[in-house]
Amino acid sequence: MHGIRRTIHSERSEFQDIDVVESEDYGRMLLLDGKVQSTVRDEHIYHESLVHPAMVAHASPKEVLILGGGEGGTLREVLRHPSVERAVMVDIDRRVVQVSKEYMPELSGGAFEDPRAELVFGDGRRYVEECVGEFDVAIVDLTDPLEGGPGAMLYTKEFYALLSRILKNDGIMVTQATSTYYSDYCFATILKTVGSAFQTAGGYHVWVPSYDSTWGFVYGTKGPDPNGLIGRFEEATARKGLKCLRYLDEKTYQALFALPKELVEKIRRWELVATDAKPTFMPV
Ligand code: SAM
Repeated sequence: MHGIRRTIHSERSEFQDIDVVESEDYGRMLLLDGKVQSTVRDEHIYHESLVHPAMVAHASPKEVLILGGGEGGTLREVLRHPSVERAVMVDIDRRVVQVSKEYMPELSGGAFEDPRAELVFGDGRRYVEECVGEFDVAIVDLTDPLEGGPGAMLYTKEFYALLSRILKNDGIMVTQATSTYYSDYCFATILKTVGSAFQTAGGYHVWVPSYDSTWGFVYGTKGPDPNGLIGRFEEATARKGLKCLRYLDEKTYQALFALPKELVEKIRRWELVATDAKPTFMPV
């Protein structure tokens, strides 16, 4: 899939294989269990698209929870919002954070040192189960739901119900939702599953060159709908003092929500909801 010039770092952590390589087209690249997570050249496309629809739609996100997101790009984008007072990031694997900081520091861009950032190492599901506080926005940036992988049980109906419980009355959650091309059924299942736990759910996607695919995101909201920002994105970002976006503007924001007709039809017909007893997995 990618030309690799050299391997910069390679290890097996307690949870997964971690590799940093120098790629031909994308510069340094982080892989977990052999799957591309982020590259220095195009990570902003993924991270801006994951974070800002929910964060800009919310009136004033102050307390934000991130599950996963080890390389720090999600935290970096969350902290761009001047309204944020506290961002808690829970990743199961401290080695992903350490390796990313050492070999790809531009991914976090100093976010881990921001006094508003709180880093917790542990299982995101357990954190949500035991959480007593409430958040404005929750961003789920986990590895794909691979069978036996550490993120598989954070894509189920029971998990989204737990997440809904720790969101305030106008809270919004968003999750990465795999490829809308190669695993469209997985995207459709995540959308139906979030829809079973939230009053309003929606999906969108963006082309990520290094994933060689359009990549999906699914949100569930108790308050404003990110879809409602279409045509108002730039006005909303200016009002909120959100600066330095590289990918998203009025047109690219609108384009996020343009799902192909055949996918929309597939989603309409799709009935499957992932549960703890019957989770859905993406093929390796
Ligand atoms: N951008 C990525 C992609 O390709 O979809 C995902 C970002 S990030 C590197 C994924 C992170 O999720 C990893 O750092 C991994 O350690 C973390 N993770 C996986 N399972 C987890 C769990 N159960 N709780 C918390 N973090 C988890």
